Amino acid sequence: MNNSTKLYRILLYYKFVNIDNPEDYARLHLNFCHALEIKGRILVAKEGINGTISGTVAQTNSYISAMRMDPRFTDMEFKIDEAEGHAFKKMYVRAREEIVTLNAGYELDPNKLTGKYLIPEEFLNAMHKENTIIIDARTDYESDLGHFRNAVRPDVRTFKEFPDWVRRNADMMKGKRVLTYCTGGIRCEKFTAVLINEGIDDVSQLKGGIINYSKDPSTRGSMFEGKCYVFDERISVDVNFAEGYKLVGKCYHCGKPHDRYVNCAHLSCHFQFICCEECEITHKRSCSKECEEAADHEWKIEKYRKFLPEGAGTIGN
Ligand SMILES: [Zn+2]
Ligand SMILES: [Zn+2]
Repeated sequence: MNNSTKLYRILLYYKFVNIDNPEDYARLHLNFCHALEIKGRILVAKEGINGTISGTVAQTNSYISAMRMDPRFTDMEFKIDEAEGHAFKKMYVRAREEIVTLNAGYELDPNKLTGKYLIPEEFLNAMHKENTIIIDARTDYESDLGHFRNAVRPDVRTFKEFPDWVRRNADMMKGKRVLTYCTGGIRCEKFTAVLINEGIDDVSQLKGGIINYSKDPSTRGSMFEGKCYVFDERISVDVNFAEGYKLVGKCYHCGKPHDRYVNCAHLSCHFQFICCEECEITHKRSCSKECEEAADHEWKIEKYRKFLPEGAGTIGN
């Protein structure tokens, strides 16, 4: 396909910098995003900004130029992906306590403490060295779809479970050179600080994450197996343009090699997992027996509701 036909772009960015009034900033920023007609999700906190947006080339260029006029964001790095359309349905800008949350139990400020930054080429070289351990700083359902060869993949379902995982696994990392990576780099900023605080001295992080590594001409995604899970409508993107794509994902139910994600049919679960076409039918697109039964129940209520007079209210919640 001719890349020049792709008229949309997806931006991924973050910066740890003080924002005095996150609520005010979020409100103004939302108006600005609406005016530009871009879509996406942006989190603002006292500690900084973390966003991913989509728009036409012109819209996203305007966004970047406008952001760089703000002295706080002049040097902010934008990871840019080409796309054929929007990757989001709506535009959200939300003020939060933190732009990325790790339940460490103490304050984490990457401007004061974080692991050493490695550019893609340095990270690739470091992966080949002796006495090195590579840790995937993403959740299990993300690393299931793709990860660096030989990486340790923590069995955690949310990012908040990482500090606990580190406490349980610190011994295997002590005395080794620890390399961490995540999607765009933001999670490693805090994750590496937790590792250092747990007594691990030699900690480095992949600058710009997998997304940047994939685009870097010196690495082109080398050593990455599978795809990278992303938090937009694309669900996943290709990473390894050096050695090509290798399927590593497995159906959550039957284990057959597969790389398609589905959302659990049980609405209050909505867990995202890899599922083959056959299992989607046999398990009613549910992640567990409990969800399968609950989803069935929801479906029956939904069916019953159709027979109620208009405005009769909802059952349950
Ligand atoms: Zn299956
Ligand atoms: Zn479920």
